[in-house]
Amino acid sequence: MSESPIYLDHHSTTPCDPRVVEAMLPYFSDNFGNAAASTHVHGRRASSALEDARGRVAASLGCLPSEIHFTSGATESNNIALRGIALDPGAHVVTSAVEHSSIIQPLEQMARFGIEHTIVMPDSKGAVHGDTIRSAIRPSTVLVSVMAANAEFGTVEPIEEIGTACRASGVPLHTDATQAVGKIPFDLQTLPVDLASLSAHKFYGPKGIGALFIRTGTSLLSPVAGGGQEKKVRSGTVNVAGAVGLAEALAIAIAGMATESERLVALRTRLRTKLLAAIPNAVVNGPDEARLPGNLHVSFPGVDVEALVHALRRFSLSTGAACASGRREPSRALRAIGLDERVAMSSLRFGLGRCNTEEHVDQLVEDLTAAVSRLRQISV
Ligand code: PMP
Repeated sequence: MSESPIYLDHHSTTPCDPRVVEAMLPYFSDNFGNAAASTHVHGRRASSALEDARGRVAASLGCLPSEIHFTSGATESNNIALRGIALDPGAHVVTSAVEHSSIIQPLEQMARFGIEHTIVMPDSKGAVHGDTIRSAIRPSTVLVSVMAANAEFGTVEPIEEIGTACRASGVPLHTDATQAVGKIPFDLQTLPVDLASLSAHKFYGPKGIGALFIRTGTSLLSPVAGGGQEKKVRSGTVNVAGAVGLAEALAIAIAGMATESERLVALRTRLRTKLLAAIPNAVVNGPDEARLPGNLHVSFPGVDVEALVHALRRFSLSTGAACASGRREPSRALRAIGLDERVAMSSLRFGLGRCNTEEHVDQLVEDLTAAVSRLRQISV
């Protein structure tokens, strides 16, 4: 069998930590009960594990256990937040042009039923400012939704500033914290945020489990109706093993965050410095400082990014939504930070994570330099 490529796509997903897998294992076949079945020991054991996981997640994020609702992931959390708050025709939502499709698509669907939205623009580094949000808020605005950190060019959004603007206008703030949680400090005790979405597989937990934080006092009518689990926010038999895994993965990520983020920033700086020195006209997109530790996003003008990814076969790399949902066009977010179509289509996202080393970075720069030079010669 051929050797596995080096994984450099940690924004897309991460491997499940073996300690997380171990914590989850008892909840598949030994303690398999339905957490809602309170009449017997099997159900009560599952319920107790679920509540323990909820408590751990709440402690990790600085909120109350009753404010955490388990979902199948950030896509579902985002949908529940938007559709559960902006219910009536005439209601208005403010969001930004750098959001994930699980924010933009539901809003586009909701527009068909008379629920309006405004998409505000970021600055050239991808940051959405409180003033911009404030000026988009109308008397009919029922929700603002801005992500905590961007999945393409890694911008860490000024959520405190945005939340302060929202509070001043009396409008709740939802943040899609999928890329932020477990990677940068995210403390709900101090952040002026009313709802937040997260997904375990982005921080070395399992896929198919996430959570929606809903601050006490925020009212929401969930579109996922049924058995009423998770305080009617997300009906459906709860994934107990997943919740246990999410809690364990989050605790591990937070305990190691300071050390790991310092290590990743050093790796990222090495990649950036070597790459800019070796490849003429390479341009780093996104912010210099307020950036996810493992993120780098670079344009290689004159190079088709799909050909580049193909040439870099020793690595698992993503264009990072450079082509939205497989279409040959740049994502809305890349256009929003001012990249023209040709430059956007020559851009690559690097997502460094726990398994990466200095050797990986050096090997990448070597392969990149050769591939960019060859592809530029071909395209002349
Ligand atoms: N929001 C952001 C910012 C993301 O990066 C992702 C995953 N790419 C999602 C939401 C959706 O997460 P999931 O696929 O786990 O539902």
